[in-house]
Parts: sequence; structure tokens; C-alpha cells
Amino acid sequence: MAHKDQGEPGEGSTDTPFSFDLPGWKTMEEGLVIRGVPQGGGFRGGEEGFQPARSEVFKKYSTRSMRPVINFDTCTKCTLCWLQCPDTVFDVTPDGLYDANMEACCGCAVCEAVCPVPDCITMVNEAEFNDNNSQWEAWTKDKDGYKKWMTVLVDKAKLETRTHGFHHVGEYAEQGPQAEGGLMATTQPKLYESEKEELISGSEAIAIACALADVDVITAYPIRPYDTVFAVRVKIKS
Ligand code: SF4
Ligand code: SF4
Repeated sequence: MAHKDQGEPGEGSTDTPFSFDLPGWKTMEEGLVIRGVPQGGGFRGGEEGFQPARSEVFKKYSTRSMRPVINFDTCTKCTLCWLQCPDTVFDVTPDGLYDANMEACCGCAVCEAVCPVPDCITMVNEAEFNDNNSQWEAWTKDKDGYKKWMTVLVDKAKLETRTHGFHHVGEYAEQGPQAEGGLMATTQPKLYESEKEELISGSEAIAIACALADVDVITAYPIRPYDTVFAVRVKIKS
């Protein structure tokens, strides 16, 4: 489902992800002050679970192209997603499960890769959603309804071509050039000989631009969606 405030093609989104009051010049402090974020407390302000405090103004979801969908019925509470998420997205619920806070998630897919339970976390195309509501709350209210909703999304996600992330541990090795029929063997991004319009991801476009510019070194942090830049670049035969 398209986002309700998405607007028409070419217009851009009219959505306001957050707003805050700017300080007047008399209240501004000298220099740049970055205050530490408090530790946090119980889940939703209660006594149980844990929810880290997060910045009120820096929301990471606005550039996300996929989001994790969690199967709370099969989760073993192993803690790996909570520990490995680079953005501290997971809130610990009162029943010891891990609820991905959708305002904080950038969609990097690390949680999906580290989860040891098959299909317990599945990255789903962001275009399927129109809110940042809690999946754990939805599951708690109606477990059968959540399962049906989740199954449709997960089945659909499996049919889509992924631009980044790896669905299970070891998938990079399976996709390597040596793996017959692997992704690298079947999808060779190409350098264009003439100008043409084609729908590709931003990371793929950067990788192709790097190849065309014949850059020798790319400096980037290989964890977030940027890892697609490397993955696509090495597939292009220079
Ligand atoms: S997709 Fe990335 S940022 Fe979002 S919850 Fe998973 S590990 Fe955290
Ligand atoms: S990594 Fe998977 S099994 Fe482990 S706590 Fe997270 S969702 Fe549950």
C-alpha cells in the first residue's frame, strides 16, 4: 500500500515526520552542544521490559526501503537481534520478546541476518506499510490476525528481488561467483553504453557511477544499506 501522504509521482512526500520548536537567539548556547541521550526505562514507561531513550528529533525511518516483520510465535528470545541492531531499535517487551521500534529502524536488515530461527525476521518492502505501529502490540491483541497478515507479507517478500541485506547467515557465500547459479552468476549489473531510463536502487546507481568514474577507492562503512554499493560494484566487470 502506498503511503497516504506520498503525493503524486514527481511531487515528493508531503509527510512531516517530526517537528520541534527552534530556539530563539537569546536561548541558543555558544558552540555546538550534543547532549547525551538518557538510558531509558521500562517498556512504554512501565515497570517491566526495557525501552532505550531515543532522540526526539532524529528519526531514522524516513529513508528506509525495507522493514523487519517479526514472527513472535517462533522467537526463542535469543537476544541476537537486540544485541546486533546497529540502531538500538528493539524494545524489550514485558514478556521478554523483542519489538522493533519502527521510528528508529533504518532498514539495514542486520537483524534478519543474525536471527537464528528460519523466517522469524523477514525484511518486507516498505511500500507495504503506511504507519510505524508496534508489531508486538498488534500480535498481542490478535495473534491469529497477526499471523495471517504476516504470512501474506512474508510470502510476498520471498518473491521480490532484494537490493540489500542477506536473508540468512552464509548467503553471501552462496551468492559468490564460485556458486553455480548464485546471484552473482545470474545478475550481472551492466555499464550503460548510451543514456537510458531504468528503475534501480540508489545504491546500485552509486555503484555504477563509481565504475563509470573508475574510482580506485571507496570509503564507506560496510554495515548499513551501503553494503549494496560494494556488493553491486564487485559484480560489475570493469
Ligand atoms: S533492520 Fe537494521 S535498524 Fe532495523 S531493526 Fe533490523 S537491525 Fe535494527
Ligand atoms: S534474533 Fe530472532 S529468535 Fe532471537 S530474539 Fe530476535 S527475533 Fe527472537
